[in-house]
Amino acid sequence: MPRLALSNVEVVYDKVFLAIKGVSLEVGEGDMVALLGANGAGKSTTLKTISGLLGPERGAVTRGEVSFGEADLLPLGAPDRVASGLVHVLEGRRIFGHLTPDENLVAAFRAGGSAARLNELRERVYAYFPRLKERMRSKAGYLSGGEQQMLAIGRALMTEPKLIMLDEPSLGLSPLLVQEIFAIIREINSQEGVSVLLVEQNASAALEIVHSAYLIENGHIVMNGTAEVLKQNPDVQEFYLGGT
Ligand code: ATP
Repeated sequence: MPRLALSNVEVVYDKVFLAIKGVSLEVGEGDMVALLGANGAGKSTTLKTISGLLGPERGAVTRGEVSFGEADLLPLGAPDRVASGLVHVLEGRRIFGHLTPDENLVAAFRAGGSAARLNELRERVYAYFPRLKERMRSKAGYLSGGEQQMLAIGRALMTEPKLIMLDEPSLGLSPLLVQEIFAIIREINSQEGVSVLLVEQNASAALEIVHSAYLIENGHIVMNGTAEVLKQNPDVQEFYLGGT
């Protein structure tokens, strides 16, 4: 059974605009999958549907099925989805700028968890991101874009996820930092067995680390396959990899 499965998911905004048109996709246990597409293709809408951040109160109606292991996700609220092991690192990072990195990590840990577990997780985050430890006493709002992205991923790890969804972690970062952060995402996947669903406009960087990918255009999945096969595809090369 896949860790995450979407079957014929549709999302309608404001009663009329069909943003997601029958999307089906799967992320296997321990798998690392990318959802690639241009601006406005429907990537963030897909992630928000999975994490429970879209609902009628936001003018969005969802149809279809989303399952997480054996659980049917759509009837669950966002906090219950996090508790079940699904975490969403939003585009733009959304850390608490007025708190220190350490306070950000503590705030992301589940209420009622033991101090020993908290320390264990926190040390694991600092082992992945030693730079955060160096900056542990400054306000997170003063960290660089790359450090803030690291903190956003660190906060996600504090929830002890089975699957991490990342929305454009490369946004606004230099190519070198993108490489660094992507290498750590790959390490988290391989060392902890955490499944990853990575949303990216930067297809060439994403296809270097994921096992497989789906391409989304205009709310439709237009292609999917292993990273190796997609990289060889002439249309992917022309439209997603800038002709390289
Ligand atoms: P980006 O990389 O720019 O975030 P995306 O692939 O994530 O793009 P979405 O943000 O999912 O795309 O948007 C898909 C479509 O749905 C777009 O046409 C967008 O304008 C529309 N849309 C997104 N959010 C809303 C909303 N809250 N209300 C109405 N329409 C929306």
